[in-house]
Amino acid sequence: MPVEKIQTLIVGGGQAGLAMSEHLIGHGIEHLVLERHRIAERWRTERWDSLVANGPAWHDRFPNREFTDIDPDAFAAKDRVADYFEAYAEMIAAPVRCGVEVLEVGRIEGRAGFRVETSDGVIEAANVIAATGPFQKPVIPPIVADDSGLTQLHSNAYKNPDQLPAGGVLVVGAGSSGVQIAAELRRAGRDVYLSVGPHNRPPRRYRGLDNVWWLGVLGKWDAQVAEQGKEHVTIAVSGADGGETVDFRELAEHGMTLVGMTASFKGGVMTFAPDLADNIAMGDADFLSVLDEADDYALRHGLDLPDEPDARRIGPLPACAIDPLLELDLAAAGVATILWATGFAVDFSWLKVDTFDADGRPRHQRGVSEEPGVYFLGLPWLSRRGSSFIWGVWHDARFIADQIAIQRDYLAQLAPAR
Ligand SMILES: Cc1cc2nc3c(=O)[nH]c(=O)nc-3n(C[C@H](O)[C@H](O)[C@H](O)COP(=O)(O)OP(=O)(O)OC[C@H]3O[C@@H](n4cnc5c(N)ncnc54)[C@H](O)[C@@H]3O)c2cc1C
Repeated sequence: MPVEKIQTLIVGGGQAGLAMSEHLIGHGIEHLVLERHRIAERWRTERWDSLVANGPAWHDRFPNREFTDIDPDAFAAKDRVADYFEAYAEMIAAPVRCGVEVLEVGRIEGRAGFRVETSDGVIEAANVIAATGPFQKPVIPPIVADDSGLTQLHSNAYKNPDQLPAGGVLVVGAGSSGVQIAAELRRAGRDVYLSVGPHNRPPRRYRGLDNVWWLGVLGKWDAQVAEQGKEHVTIAVSGADGGETVDFRELAEHGMTLVGMTASFKGGVMTFAPDLADNIAMGDADFLSVLDEADDYALRHGLDLPDEPDARRIGPLPACAIDPLLELDLAAAGVATILWATGFAVDFSWLKVDTFDADGRPRHQRGVSEEPGVYFLGLPWLSRRGSSFIWGVWHDARFIADQIAIQRDYLAQLAPAR
């Protein structure tokens, strides 16, 4: 059988793969998107049932299409986001082949291009773009053994409270996923312990404008490196319930027990670092610094925005943070489940080319790898803070399409007849 040949192969049919396709279409570059499941599958099935976008519909979208039938200031439910990308693929006539998994990619010896082994045969491609997601492989710190008798699951496997065995839940990690899941479990009547690490918690809205707007005008989406010392700081932000600022004091008021970083587990007892108050203080400081920057921006630009002095009123620490639990006997406390909202890693084990560091992290500049013809898209901080988010990936895809077009034009110089 002749081997199928394609100029540029995009692996992954999420938002990154579609953005890439749109810009390649713009350059007239022949390409194919291979998606192992369905378009935007992770939005469909790899997130909890009640998830809504973290940004309002006017912002968390691609420039060339708005969400229909949803208030631009509302937060789209996860299935609406998946529907949006399906409709987008149709709108741009993206050449997406679903149900085909890329199993291995390697450089072809002795000539240009890559051999791509898929679940549906072999393809040869001159370029390969890995658009397999910023959050591919759940990370669970090795604290509790698998045979501990406790139910343990990662946030990517959580669907709803009914899925968990009866009893309390320890949610480890208080970024956007952890706080939203913990709040949902508490509302469902569960005893919830939330392990809170260093975090930022920007105001959902300030002086009438959403956080995503402030991030935009303050240049924070476009920041090219994380602030020094804040590289591993999670961001607690939520669009749930119409969009509320994440407020740990309020969560505690609703009966949630906050604890510091989860440190170790022995003899059924979990230990926590004595850092809860510090972590909350760090979140408060970040919160206030955003207000300061926003006020400064409004002043310098002469914006007539409503004042919001109440936003600066931060209440006293909750009792659980003043005298924090440092140990918890999980069985005695009735905790049957540990829900790890501890983030993700990448897995490029299928990509057998020379552009990875010793830890398997891709080496690249703005997505252009050290292996000519291999590109990455959608990774956190690929070029800037916005890179792994809906609106940001579209702009990174444009840059990569430009690079591929530039290389195509150089190679065209090799053509014999001119
Ligand atoms: C809980 C959560 C909430 C989020 N909320 C928001 C939000 O509100 N706003 C926002 O802007 N961002 C949000 N993000 C961040 C980001 O937008 C999403 O992670 C988004 O799914 C990333 O899109 P992507 O196309 O880069 O990757 P993915 O959506 O992960 O898509 C990659 C695709 O590649 C496919 N694939 C993987 N390996 C292969 C293979 N070997 N062969 C073929 N196909 C393969 C997968 O099936 C998948 O469909 C959120 C992330 C999480 C985890």
